[in-house]
Order: sequence, then structure tokens, then C-alpha cells
Amino acid sequence: MEKPQKVAGVALFRKPPEPARNALEICPERGAYLHLAGIAKCFGSRAVLSDISLTAKKGEMLCILGPSGCGKTTLLRIIAGLEAPDRGALWLAGRDISDIPPEARGFGFVFQNYALFPNLTLAENVAYGLHGRGKEERRRKVAELLALVHLADYAGHYPGRLSGGQQQRAALARALAPDPALLLLDEPLSALDAQVRGRLRKDLRRIQKALGISAVLVTHDQQEALALADRIVVMNQGRIEQLDTPEALYHSPKTRFVAEFIGSMNVLSPLPGALLAMAGAEGRPIGIRYEDVIVDEITEARLKDPCCFVARIESNRLFGPFRRLELLLNDQTTRIFADIPATRQFKGLSPEQATRGLVAVTLPQNRWRRWNDA
Ligand code: ATP
Repeated sequence: MEKPQKVAGVALFRKPPEPARNALEICPERGAYLHLAGIAKCFGSRAVLSDISLTAKKGEMLCILGPSGCGKTTLLRIIAGLEAPDRGALWLAGRDISDIPPEARGFGFVFQNYALFPNLTLAENVAYGLHGRGKEERRRKVAELLALVHLADYAGHYPGRLSGGQQQRAALARALAPDPALLLLDEPLSALDAQVRGRLRKDLRRIQKALGISAVLVTHDQQEALALADRIVVMNQGRIEQLDTPEALYHSPKTRFVAEFIGSMNVLSPLPGALLAMAGAEGRPIGIRYEDVIVDEITEARLKDPCCFVARIESNRLFGPFRRLELLLNDQTTRIFADIPATRQFKGLSPEQATRGLVAVTLPQNRWRRWNDA
């Protein structure tokens, strides 16, 4: 077999590092599998990462989520050993790996752009990281992994003849072959179309859980993070805003950035007069998700609720299963967005005619979100 060229980041497979002799003495975080402490990185005079500390448990899928340029890839590259931090340290399985070169860390990688060897079949690609193992073990492992990623029938095919989704499945099988100590995934699904991406998300989660592998995935796609992660690290300008489960991030954002970045949130600031008294003297902003806004026909009974306002529908757009209404409250300044079922009808207004119609809009107090920063 012709020896393949080394492709950046792919041929970095080795046995997982040996656990430290006395892990608890060395790693300050008991029970953590991956532990980052005080990681900082500057490029020139620009601070790209500041004081990043986090832990991940064994078998956990940790997603790093944030807007473009917030430092996600730089952090992943530091975990991989491809970039050196200016400050801070990393531990894996209780061992300080800060000074261990990338090829000795025993990690697997999956990137956005497949990076398969074009001159090798899928089976040969997957077998590539298994050198040093017996022929029979290699054959068995390749067959197992190709079956796991639903490519058993494509073992003899070359990557160029496969779809993007199939190539990415093969890249995943290849990264998993040497039983990596940690699987690192950098926007692995972003080059694929929406349908394929949805299917691969499910497969990735199924495979990661089935193998109990620890993984760190970088994405700017909140749907992807919510669907895949056990816990999500939300980053903003090189700092961690919140590290939590998808449920906790969605329902209890700790900062305004997280509240606005995950899901669709109305932020009321300033508050409409009627809510000021209820909100407390300090009048801090209130968040309410688009799907938590209640839109109804106007009745006297509804308007007795201090959280209910008359509003005019300013725009009305169909988004498949739901409609997004833009509503101007009768204080003539507060604009609210509401997502309502696409089939919802209002008396006297067909959904298509609803623009400029008047409705009752309720912002239920038990759905208000508050956060720690202003
Ligand atoms: P994206 O989602 O767009 O990939 P990101 O969150 O992954 O963004 P990084 O790629 O980590 O962000 O980059 C963070 C910042 O650091 C960016 O402003 C980027 O231009 C800068 N940067 C990254 N690598 C280098 C480098 N080698 N030299 C100089 N600046 C860099």
C-alpha cells in the first residue's frame, strides 16, 4: 500500500497518555477528566483568550459555542497541543499535559473539511491510525467502525466518489479507530446541507455515547450545541460567559449575552410603564422568549392583567411550523416579537391579513428571565 502523505492534524494518533502516578496530587480538580486552568493567549497585542478554566467528565460531550472570532478554535487548538498557551495549564486523566506535544496526546480529530486521504479506500483510511496492531484486529476494527457510521457497504470506495455526509462519517470512523483519549471536533458538520447535518448530529451523539468517548466540539451553531452537548461552554470575546447543561443555559441564562445568544429573546429595556412596579424599583431589563409571549384577541378580562397590553401587529412572517409576529405595544415604543403556531387564527383577522390588526399581548411574569449583569 502506498504510504499516504501526512494531512495536518490527522495523523496524530498514539496511545492515550499514561495516567499520573498520583493523579490527585497533580490535578487540582478531583474527578475531572479534562481540566483547563487559567488558560490565556494573545496574538500580538490582542488578547484572544483570557483566564479560561473548565473541566469535563469522562464520557462527556462538551460543546464550545460562541460567535465568530470569540476564540473557540484557538481554545481547541490549545487543547490539541497545536497552539501553546501564554499562561495556564491542562490536565487529562489527572496528568499535566501542558508540555506534551500534539502527536503524543493520543487525541482524534474531525475537521469541517473531511481531510480523508483521496488515494486510499475508506477501509484503508480508517485502518491508517491502526498501524502497530495485528492484521486481524485491524480488519475487525475497520469493519466495526464502518458499520457504526453506516458505511459498511462502502469499504472499498474512494472518498472522491462519496457525498459530503458520507465523507464526514468516514472521517469520524478514522478518528475513532485508535481509541483516542479525547475526540476533538472543529465545526464538523458546518459544510453539510441542513438535512444531512440533522442526520449526522443524531449519529454523532449516538456513536459518542455508545463508545463512551470524551469529546470537545467547537461550533457557532446553537442548535447543534443544544442537540449534541452534555454541557455547553458559551464564549464571548475570549472569556467564558457560562458553562452549563443545554437546559440550564436555555432556561436560566446568567448573563445578558447568553440570554440573547441562545434562542430568541425579547429584552425589555426600558420596561413598559405598567411592568415597572412589578419588576422592582431598580427597573433592570427583563427578557422574555419569543415563544413565551401570549397573543390573543382583545377582551376586557384579559386587559385587567397588568402584564397584558394592546398591541398592533407590525409584521407577520411564516417560518414553516410557526409565525413570527412583530408587535408594537400601545406605549408606542416597546417592540416585541412573538412566535405563534402557523395555523393560529384570530377572530376577524386571517393570518395573512393580520398585519396592522390589534391584539392582546401578555408577557407572563412567570416566564420573565433575569440575569446577573445589567
Ligand atoms: P470562527 O468561528 O470564525 O472560526 P473562532 O471563535 O474559532 O472564530 P478563533 O479562530 O479562535 O475564533 O480566532 C480568535 C481571534 O484570534 C480572531 O480574531 C482571529 O483572527 C485571531 N487569530 C486566530 N489565530 C491567529 C493567529 N495564528 N495569528 C493571529 N491572530 C489569530
